Amino acid sequence: MLLAKRLENLHPYVPGEQPKDRVYIKLNANENPYPPCKAVAKAVKKAVAKNISNLGLYPDPDSNDLRFAIAEMLNETGGCFNNSKEAKKALPFTITPDMIFCGNGSDEVLSFVFYTFFDSDRPLVMPEFTYSFYPVYCGYYNIPMCQVPLKETWELDVDKMLEEANKNDSAIIFANPNAPTGIALKRAEVAAMIEKAPKDKIFIVDEAYADFGDESCIPLLEKYDNLVIVRTFSKSLSFAGMRLGYIVASPDLVRSVFTVKNSFNHFPVDFLAQKAGIASCENYDYCEENARKVVAERESITKFLRERGWFVIDSKTNFIFAKKDGVKGTDIYQAVKKAGILIRHFATPGIEEFVRISIGTKKQMDLLKSVLEEV
Ligand code: PMP
Repeated sequence: MLLAKRLENLHPYVPGEQPKDRVYIKLNANENPYPPCKAVAKAVKKAVAKNISNLGLYPDPDSNDLRFAIAEMLNETGGCFNNSKEAKKALPFTITPDMIFCGNGSDEVLSFVFYTFFDSDRPLVMPEFTYSFYPVYCGYYNIPMCQVPLKETWELDVDKMLEEANKNDSAIIFANPNAPTGIALKRAEVAAMIEKAPKDKIFIVDEAYADFGDESCIPLLEKYDNLVIVRTFSKSLSFAGMRLGYIVASPDLVRSVFTVKNSFNHFPVDFLAQKAGIASCENYDYCEENARKVVAERESITKFLRERGWFVIDSKTNFIFAKKDGVKGTDIYQAVKKAGILIRHFATPGIEEFVRISIGTKKQMDLLKSVLEEV
């Protein structure tokens, strides 16, 4: 036997397709249709031009300047681009750099988080439909899972998740807003959930899409020491190609994740990504504006499809999850692909009628609407 036995537990994550045979409009991977701000290009250019030998040296292993820049951005935004001015000021404490841990995309950060906090002696509680990398990491780290079905309304079944977590004294993880449904629990609802969840186990909220919603759970960190919030630069900060993700949590928990990182890869965030990330945080108002445009297009396509008889779930993200009675999800996907637009269709039983459409620019969405008119 050449292969390790543990490989049998691996069922790799399948990302949205990235075909090279033709140029498609990509509305299939929840990427941001707008490029990063100009300051990012300048920062990268300057970093290389100033001293090219920087690329021959190892970067800061802990991304300290970047952690500082992220903390500043969060303190100014309150953790959500879409926050009202009052809500922004409402952050009840100052986020310090020692509450931030950075990694090579939030997928990697999640991997460190799974290794740091979840054991194989009890199931990790999560919704049945949520970010599909969580079950993959459970296989990778041999962590049993308890996948709780969503309610008929496609919302999280919070009571059932709590019941399961309290049965085995388990940790909980979910995305908020959730993927692929796009539905968000309010911060107050998450707080009520943490109150009733096991206190000696970690409670993870993955906020990959929070900047397109109404609020973040970051303010809850003041009260709950077992809360870990996972965030990404890939969506609202237009950095999917750069690979940057981070967690916000108490300094003690962050220190434990550093132990895992330093036992696996000392330098997960390269020199250029650190420089680019800092420039992005310092100029977040550009991305804030883009997030507003994405939200406006999301509301527009939701209305458009509903007027044509589609079922569209209310989304707080940069994508919608929608279906049309009598039309197969895969047929919608194929018809749209023929027109040069990629959207996502899942073969998973229970959601196979749906398509997930990432929100593009107005021009891209207008084209999509004209194609969907025919479906
Ligand atoms: N969490 C959720 C809920 C996601 O949808 C994604 C993107 N697929 C990620 C995390 C990972 O994002 P990234 O690795 O690009 O930071």
